Amino acid sequence: MIDTHCHLCDKRFDKDRQQVFDRARHVGVTHMVEIAYGPGIWEKGFVLAAEHPNVFLAVGVHPSESGKVPMSELDALRSHARHARVVAIGETGLDFFRDHAPRDAQERWFRAQLALADEVGLPVVIHQRSALDAVLAILEEVRPQAGGVLHCFDQDAATAERARALGFKLGLGGVVTYGHEALDEAVRTAPEDMLLLETDAPYLEPEPRSLKRNEPSLLTRVVKRLCELRGWEPQQAVEITRRNAKELFRLLV
Ligand SMILES: [Zn+2]
Repeated sequence: MIDTHCHLCDKRFDKDRQQVFDRARHVGVTHMVEIAYGPGIWEKGFVLAAEHPNVFLAVGVHPSESGKVPMSELDALRSHARHARVVAIGETGLDFFRDHAPRDAQERWFRAQLALADEVGLPVVIHQRSALDAVLAILEEVRPQAGGVLHCFDQDAATAERARALGFKLGLGGVVTYGHEALDEAVRTAPEDMLLLETDAPYLEPEPRSLKRNEPSLLTRVVKRLCELRGWEPQQAVEITRRNAKELFRLLV
């Protein structure tokens, strides 16, 4: 399995980060994409990737961070984006649910990162909350050349179809175990080459939500649910999602 979206630099892993990596390896998570979502996290991400050869990075400015990050940081982001282990730009997008940042600052950083992704030839990792139409409208206007992923996908089949038309994939994590009917239908019917596994660890633990913290080893719960929805065997789900992750992020693994 490849966890295409996690935050293992989070302080909630400070006490047992190595055990988290060990448990992931034990259940067959071979690689992870760590999302370094702001200037304070970029350096931590590079340290994590230096310590763990199976960690790739996405670098960007999260919409909730965008109010406090000056646009002058774009030059630093651009140079990080050219690092060999960086496989995507993001997470970026719009978050009107939490509204931690003014909407104009969010949109400015979103558009700047879409332009950067095209400039350096990388896909984008998209975060959106309560902003689906605004995010899709901008993506449909810009049409990122290397595609991307709608991270933490929790929408319906019509949205999956709009993502497909953009050449985007769907990041499937704990939310697919929460029993949302429209999402289940989207996961059942989407073309199989769109499906990616992700945890968003430490957030969004898959059911039964017993640990109060998510981690890459819990991808097994997501695979189980994906198999129920698609009628797949676990090995099939792993092979398909692995192939998709390798294709999107151009991983030579
Ligand atoms: Zn995230």
